[in-house]
Order: sequence, then C-alpha cells, then structure tokens
Amino acid sequence: QRIYLDHNATSPLCAPARRAVAEAFDVFGNPSSVHGEGRAAHRLIEDARDAVAALVGGRPREIVFTSGGTEANNLALFGTPAESLVVSAIEHMSVREAAERSGRPFFVCPVNGDGVVDGAAFERLLEEGPAPALVSIMLANNETGVIQPIRDLAACAHAHGALFHCDAVQGPGRLVIDVEDLGVDLLTLSGHKLGAPKGIGALWVRDGIDLAPLLVGGGQEFRRRAGTENVPGIAGFGAAATAAGQALRTIDRVRALRDRLEAAILETARDARIFGAGAPRVANTSAIYMPGMAAETQVMAFDLEGIAVSAGSACSSGKVQPSHVIAAMGATPEEAQGVIRVSLGTETSEAEIERFIAVWLGLYERAARRRVGAL
Ligand code: PLP
Repeated sequence: QRIYLDHNATSPLCAPARRAVAEAFDVFGNPSSVHGEGRAAHRLIEDARDAVAALVGGRPREIVFTSGGTEANNLALFGTPAESLVVSAIEHMSVREAAERSGRPFFVCPVNGDGVVDGAAFERLLEEGPAPALVSIMLANNETGVIQPIRDLAACAHAHGALFHCDAVQGPGRLVIDVEDLGVDLLTLSGHKLGAPKGIGALWVRDGIDLAPLLVGGGQEFRRRAGTENVPGIAGFGAAATAAGQALRTIDRVRALRDRLEAAILETARDARIFGAGAPRVANTSAIYMPGMAAETQVMAFDLEGIAVSAGSACSSGKVQPSHVIAAMGATPEEAQGVIRVSLGTETSEAEIERFIAVWLGLYERAARRRVGAL
C-alpha cells in the first residue's frame, strides 16, 4: 500500500468534489446560453463562485475562475496596472517568470534564514522603485510551509501606494484565509491543492481594481477571462472549497504528526535540518535536509519503499536544479541539494508517519556509512 506524502504538489480528489464533478457532466448547457440548459450550467458556476468567495471572505463577483494557480498568478501580474513589480525571492515560478517577462522593472525581496520576507528590505524596495508598484508575495511557501506576515507587508505596500497580490495556493484547509483581514488586493487559489480536480483555479480581485484580461474574445467572468467555462471543474472547485473550510477543524492532528516526524528525525540525526522551523509554518509541511544524499536520490529511494515525497527542486522540464527557495534562505549548495519536502494530508495516519520515519532513518544511516567509508 502506497503512502502519499506530497499533498503540496497535489491532493487527491475529495468525495464532495468527485460527486459535484460527476453531476456537472450531466449539465451540458453552455453557461452563456439563455435557455434552460444554459441557465442550469450558469447556476452551477454561480453556486461554486459563492463557495470559493466564502472560503476567502470575499464577494462572489470578485472571483475570476481561471485554469489554475499559474494562470491566476499570470493574470494578476500581467493584468494589473503598475510601473514596477516587487516579488519575494521564494515565489513560485509562475510569479517569478511572469515578473521577468512583464517588461516592467522588477525587484526581488530577500528572505531571512527562516524563509520570512525581510520587512526592512521590502520597505526600501518600495521606496526606491518606480511607483505605483504591484507587490506579489505568497501566503505560505510550497516547499517549506513558512507563512509570510502578509497583513504587515500589505499595509506597508499600501502606505507606498502599491497594490498587493498574494499567492495563497498553499493556504486553504491549513489556514483561515480572510482577504479583508489580510488587507490584500488580489489573491490566487488553485483547485487541485485543496481536493478539486486539476486545471481549475481562481483569482480574487478586490472590487474596483482595474484588471486587464489575458484571454479576450468573450464576456465570461465579467469580461476578465474569455472562454467557455470549465463547468465540471468549477463545480468540483466549489464543493472542495466548502470541504476545505471544514478540513481546518482537523489541522491540529496533522500538526502533531508533522511535529512527531521532525522530532524523531532530529533526535537521531543531529546534523539533519528542518528548513523554516524557526518561523510560523502551515501544519502539514516539512522541508528536511539529509546530509550526504541528494534529494532526487532520496525521492527515488522513498518511492521504491512505496512512499511519495518530493525534492523541492523538482521542475517540470525534468531538469533538476537546487531549490531557489532553500538557497534564498542562505543554505549551502550541499544543503540546497539535499532537502526533500514532506507534505501531509488530512487522511495521513500515525502508522504512515512511523513508516516514513523508519525509512528516513535507514537512508540516513546508509548515507552516514558511505561518508565514513569515503574518509
Ligand atoms: N503557486 C504555488 C505556491 C504553488 O505551489 C503552485 C503549484 O505548485 C502554483 C502556484 C501553481 O498552481 P497550478 O498547479 O494550479 O497552476
């Protein structure tokens, strides 16, 4: 039986989303059509919009459905009027590359050794760069789980006349997200990280913010995203959004398992390291450095043992590079190459964690023996 500890990469479809998707396949009308079939499909979309808006404390008309987190991040960065961009050093590549390609000056804000954005450096960048700026900083990092002080950073950005976008893809089901409390202007969500199917996401855009569409040629999504909507995906996203709110109730159990895992490793492997452990983190994530074994080797070894984890550095082109997130935290190249990401889900059991610990310690001993042999 496989043990899945890679929920930050994607999560299994949750039961309510599976049901909603299946039902939506029978609602075949085009949501833009005015007849009964069209209106039925439109209703599914609007119900899902209500649920997604409720998940983040926004208004339904502020939700723009997209093909996922990547598109939502691109829409925010390309679509918002700004003279310059400020992003953190640990953003997902869908923010980093969008900033690079935007044609506007962009500035990268450093993080401290725990992976938290450096507030003083952030303020300096806002003071020095061309205004008005758009800031993009994530809520919780996908590799370390480190939570950023979004409320303070957004307040600082606003004081300098900047808009604030937050990639909150890793937040739902792990943190309460309230756009008013965070004080952000735009916020990204991705369906498949919270139990919905892949290929659906959303950008929440505060009422009154100017947003130019990336896709044109239709009036869908309040003229902010043209194209006939992915009705089953949206319906699944709505159902998963409601379930994610409920999953928060069991998050302390997940935290206890994650903490047990880290404590067991550090008790035996004194030279191991948990990246971001000194900062507030989401409860399900652990970025673990094992001395003497490359992350990709660890991932393969775990896979052979039936356990799915990831090398934070894995990239879709198949070419493995050291993680820019771990490197930005001041890690040595050796450390940056040796970190795996373990991310738990609500269904993860104690027995699965015990098995993970046993395999991790076995690999650690193997690596330690090899290092002694090499001396
Ligand atoms: N932002 C973060 C923090 C992510 O972890 C991911 C997915 O890995 C994305 C954005 C991209 O989301 P999607 O896979 O829906 O395009």
